[in-house]
Amino acid sequence: MKYSIVTFGCRVNQADSFAIEEQLRRRGATDASPEDADLVIINTCSVTASADQGTRQTIRRIVRCNPDAKVIVTGCYATRRPDEIASLPNVMRVVSNDAKDTLVEALEADGELTTARRFDGGDGPCGLSLEPGVAGRTALMLRVQTGCDEACSYCIIPRTRGTGRSRSLPDVMRDIRRAVDAGYREIAITGVHLGSYGRDRGDGTTLARLVQMLSEWPADVLFRISSLEPMDCTEEIVAAAARSPRIASHFHLPLQHGSDEMLTAMRRPYTVAYYRHLVQGIRSRLPHASVGTDIIVGFPGETGEHFHALRDVLDALPLTYLHVFPYSDRPGTAAARLSNKVDGNDIRTRAREIRAIGERKTREFRQSQVGRTLRALTVDDGRSVVTGNYLKVKIGEQQPRNAWVAVTIESPDPLAGRVSAH
Ligand code: SF4
Repeated sequence: MKYSIVTFGCRVNQADSFAIEEQLRRRGATDASPEDADLVIINTCSVTASADQGTRQTIRRIVRCNPDAKVIVTGCYATRRPDEIASLPNVMRVVSNDAKDTLVEALEADGELTTARRFDGGDGPCGLSLEPGVAGRTALMLRVQTGCDEACSYCIIPRTRGTGRSRSLPDVMRDIRRAVDAGYREIAITGVHLGSYGRDRGDGTTLARLVQMLSEWPADVLFRISSLEPMDCTEEIVAAAARSPRIASHFHLPLQHGSDEMLTAMRRPYTVAYYRHLVQGIRSRLPHASVGTDIIVGFPGETGEHFHALRDVLDALPLTYLHVFPYSDRPGTAAARLSNKVDGNDIRTRAREIRAIGERKTREFRQSQVGRTLRALTVDDGRSVVTGNYLKVKIGEQQPRNAWVAVTIESPDPLAGRVSAH
């Protein structure tokens, strides 16, 4: 059977798709393009209205090119609006996030998988049946937690992913060992609300404990901590990154806004002062770390004054990149019920201005790295490397993929360098 997996959205969705792909391959299925596959699995996102629209367009396009394809839709949009999804062409099954982990088993049980072999329940030849490079991935995304117990007023995720649930430390350690045995040299630790890892278990498991263990990992592996809510980025986590070469010097800490009034309206549990102190603390301990953030522009009630506060805070913060999201209503969220919505043109103008700040900060950071020699992993076709501080650098001569090299940054734009050692 030929399958294709189309993934939208966050790293958690990428990790989920990776797990589905592994289960299919273990059963002898082979990957193909959506236009050529027998089975197409769409793993959806629903963080914005345009994400939903993207899914609908993708399904219609695939079915036009591949009228015999059996389409299965899962993920957040499928969880939020199963009825809407079920009405789309060739959709034979809509699977909520809760049932995603057993999606392949359910297909097999219902005889929907015409694969060469039944799953024997055991591990593949070297534990993990997907070695680095499969489906274009050099780094492994490993989901250790899902769901969220926070209540940010603009966010639909707690409704699509449910309450916070963490995998046990032994389970996580087992998967990391399998991944390292399979040859992975970079592993991204991810979750819907990663910072709450372990809280639901009541057995002392915490993200700081996990990071501590990863910081002492014997093999030559780099662990990248995915997006971390600011209130969860503890002193121990920063210290582990400052101390150990196993933890990538890269933090993604969603601030969302630079006005305390807006943070309160968004129900974000911290202040601008707290965030500034956090980021300056990271910068002083890790002068060359990459520190990025998410910003929502145009949240209901955002005045010119709030926007100027946001702009000034970002200007002053030692950040290295920004992800900018123009606000859009998500039906079912508290923010969608707020009045005093911001005019669409103002939202677009403000988003452009904040993006420009982000681009300047990225340029300045890249410039600051010129002349430095950094450890990096070769990715893609071996003509690019990714450093611990999250720079994707073009290199001249091709290298074997998934190999550690030392790269000397030579130019900031385009970001390029040369391999000076292996
Ligand atoms: S922490 Fe807030 S933004 Fe993040 S998933 Fe939970 S509710 Fe959504």
